[in-house]
Amino acid sequence: MKYEIPVTKTSESRLPEVDFNDIPFGRVFSDHMFICDYRDGRWQEPRIVPFGPFMIHPAAMGLHYGQSIFEGMKASKSHDGRPLLFRPDMHAKRINASAERMCMPAFPEELFLAALKKLVGLDAAWIPPQAGSALYIRPLMFASDEFIGVKPSLNYRFIIFTGPVGPYYPKPVSLLAEQKYVRAVEGGTGEAKAAGNYGGALLPAKLAQEKGFDQVMWLDAHEFKNVQEVGTMNIFFVIDGTVVTPPTGGTILKGITRDSIITILKDKGFDIDIRPVTVDELIEAHRGGKLEEAFGSGTAAVVAHVSKIGIGDEVLDLPPVEERRIGELAKKTINDLRAGLIPDPYGWIVEVPVSEAAEV
Ligand SMILES: *Cc1c(COP(=O)(O)O)cnc(C)c1O
Repeated sequence: MKYEIPVTKTSESRLPEVDFNDIPFGRVFSDHMFICDYRDGRWQEPRIVPFGPFMIHPAAMGLHYGQSIFEGMKASKSHDGRPLLFRPDMHAKRINASAERMCMPAFPEELFLAALKKLVGLDAAWIPPQAGSALYIRPLMFASDEFIGVKPSLNYRFIIFTGPVGPYYPKPVSLLAEQKYVRAVEGGTGEAKAAGNYGGALLPAKLAQEKGFDQVMWLDAHEFKNVQEVGTMNIFFVIDGTVVTPPTGGTILKGITRDSIITILKDKGFDIDIRPVTVDELIEAHRGGKLEEAFGSGTAAVVAHVSKIGIGDEVLDLPPVEERRIGELAKKTINDLRAGLIPDPYGWIVEVPVSEAAEV
């Protein structure tokens, strides 16, 4: 099915106000956004309009009862200026997996992809050309019924908006294994990119920061033993030459960067163990000098190296970042794919047709 997405263009682009060499993360938004509303049991006409606030009813159910889900992805520019998306089909599938868990309607995958292409094509000039910079893309769906009472909403709004982000050179992050609060439990909503998961994580993150750590490393909810993930990143360890990452198993968000890194490293001949990792194992490996690397993986940073991990009274200091061979290789490979610098054997890179970029 071919979707027609009518466009109302902004009368005055805000692009001239933006300095691509100095973009505060998450605060700059491009000229247009995509909107589609769900009413009467179906998705209504999609449209692209100038970016801006919209009215929301005080009783909108998404504000009260947490039927709100999102995605985070990026468009980049190839070295020769073509707009590229990275695995957009995976994001289309994941938002629908989140929708199913939160009792929300699925959004047609084809319309999701058509909307992305049209929106990114239209605002292609907002993709910073600098290496490592990108256009961050935020799809969001929330319950819009005007009703007080806990039940699935009948109406929803689906939007996509974007904003340029500078090259993300994250400092290595320090992590504190969280031994009181939990992010997710089997049967819960941890596998969904659902708004409430992040609200619930703010207090433990703040407490970890007060103790001098950047982020929380989540453990399982039963024994506080098995490592889960970190903030908005999945986690990898390199222990005695083997790459290890926990299985997702319902409590861990299925990161698309995680999946990409597993595929890439396997192809490059590394041993990857997808198995539970306990904090005791990390302490042990560190004592034996075998905890060689630890890194988080996610769309924003691609790879963020871990400098140290606090576990109870112990602090595991990891080797200097210059020695992180495997994490760096994963990061460089993904960044090179996104910049079109190396061939894409996986079909992950989706070009936004130039005709779409030009035609409005
Ligand atoms: C989004 C997210 C990730 C990373 O997913 P990517 O698809 O790699 O960006 C990991 N954990 C959580 C909790 C997340 O919300």
